[in-house]
Amino acid sequence: MKKDKIPACAGIKNYINGEFVNPISDNYIDNYNPAIGEVYGQIPDSTKEDVEKAVEAAEKAFPSWSNTTLAIRSKILSKIADLIHQNLDKLAAAESKDNGKPLSLAKAIDIPRASSNFQFFANAITQFSSEAHESVGLNAVNFTLRQPIGVVGCISPWNLPLYLFTWKIAPAIAAGNCVVAKPSEVTPMTAYLLGEICNEAGLPKGVLNIVHGLGTSTGQAIVEHPNIKAISFTGGTATGAHIARIAAPMFKKLSLELGGKNPNIIFADCDYDKMLETTVRSSFANQGQICLCGSRIFVEEKIYEQFKIDFVQKVSELKVGNPSEESTNIGALVSKQHLEKVKSYIDIAENEGGKILFGGKKVEVAGSEKGYYLQPTIIEVVSNKCRLNQEEIFGPVVTIMSFKTDGEALQLANDVKYGLSATLWTSNLNRTMQFSKQLHSGIVWVNTWLMRDLRTPFGGQKESGVGREGGFEALRFFTEPKNICIKFLP
Ligand code: NAD
Repeated sequence: MKKDKIPACAGIKNYINGEFVNPISDNYIDNYNPAIGEVYGQIPDSTKEDVEKAVEAAEKAFPSWSNTTLAIRSKILSKIADLIHQNLDKLAAAESKDNGKPLSLAKAIDIPRASSNFQFFANAITQFSSEAHESVGLNAVNFTLRQPIGVVGCISPWNLPLYLFTWKIAPAIAAGNCVVAKPSEVTPMTAYLLGEICNEAGLPKGVLNIVHGLGTSTGQAIVEHPNIKAISFTGGTATGAHIARIAAPMFKKLSLELGGKNPNIIFADCDYDKMLETTVRSSFANQGQICLCGSRIFVEEKIYEQFKIDFVQKVSELKVGNPSEESTNIGALVSKQHLEKVKSYIDIAENEGGKILFGGKKVEVAGSEKGYYLQPTIIEVVSNKCRLNQEEIFGPVVTIMSFKTDGEALQLANDVKYGLSATLWTSNLNRTMQFSKQLHSGIVWVNTWLMRDLRTPFGGQKESGVGREGGFEALRFFTEPKNICIKFLP
């Protein structure tokens, strides 16, 4: 669509070589505000040619940036962190408007975390060092240089837009790479604002380039570009598999953070009140659109009936409403298509013999009738084999079923193609250790959920991904190790 035909343009441009530029084609994509279901701006519909320009800028910036001292890199990253913090209100409002998430959530979690991502890697890079080994008896010393890769591609999804975008960009540039990044076309706004912040922080031009557009054109052009040597991708499992098929014959380094269908396993010996409160959050935070949400709840038979009553009661108290209102717990889903997809699983549940214990209906929020709102939904299922328990819904829909023994709970938890995170509620240490060891999952939370120490590895097993982000793992991904072996005279 040509820009001049569009009524309200939010003015989003690509950020290439430190400048804000229109796409070469001058074509644009509509951007919706999910809270009201209306177009409120456009973003560039970038093509291969725009990606080409971004890669050229990144290649030009690389020799200087990769030789910039760690102290200077660290200072610039810190400055970006500060500026994100200083612009918290503006960024949170943009995130909430673009995504439909409650403004309070964007203010408390998304934007502070984006700032922490830069601050964390500003510090981490100064402690990330080469390893040295004396080869005793051979009169040799070995050391391993960790060198930046060059130009790397970062592609992120819509659910935690700035949070996940910066989780890739910060370690990539801290390690001395130059980046071509693409945020989700559904939530481009805070990525656009990040460009302004990087300029203000003094990030040299070309170190970060942000190209907006569709996954199948702009995203794919990043993956296919021969001079982009590594791709860090977060998104759906099918997209990850598609990207891997393109990247493999080009021998690109790949980090894939993909979908989840995470078990929340509740034993009778847990701290019940804490579990109940956290389970409401782990089920419905961000409208259930977090890859780590515990979407399959398994409850020990002894407390199952009581849990059902209490859980339904707590969930019925959640307020679905306009994201900008302070009292809102559940905002809008990100798009009309996504709302339709999530709703289709409620029909599937009914066909599969699932029983809706709460929710299941679209919500009409006063003044925002065209917005994409859905009730938080609890469905009791009879088997873990049903589609509701095997497929990622990625919305405010959880299933519950009971179990009798530890062995049965473990089997149910692992019986799925995903392996991102798992939550366990128990006060039994032996059980904690047995489950922690045997769960097929990249992350296990015991008596908590979504507690993140940024030093720890983050990522999934099975179809939830390949590789890990976080801490030094991210810096290892964004560097190429080189062994140097020096022989000396005895
Ligand atoms: P998606 O796979 O549709 O898109 C993710 C990103 O990839 C977007 O920027 C999109 O434009 C781009 N893309 C799409 N097709 C592409 C292609 N052919 N080549 C290159 N890029 C392409 O995912 P989504 O709907 O934006 O996000 C939801 C998914 O993300 C869910 O499955 C969720 O579980 C997953 N997710 C995973 C994590 C994690 O850390 N494991 C975190 C958040 C979200």
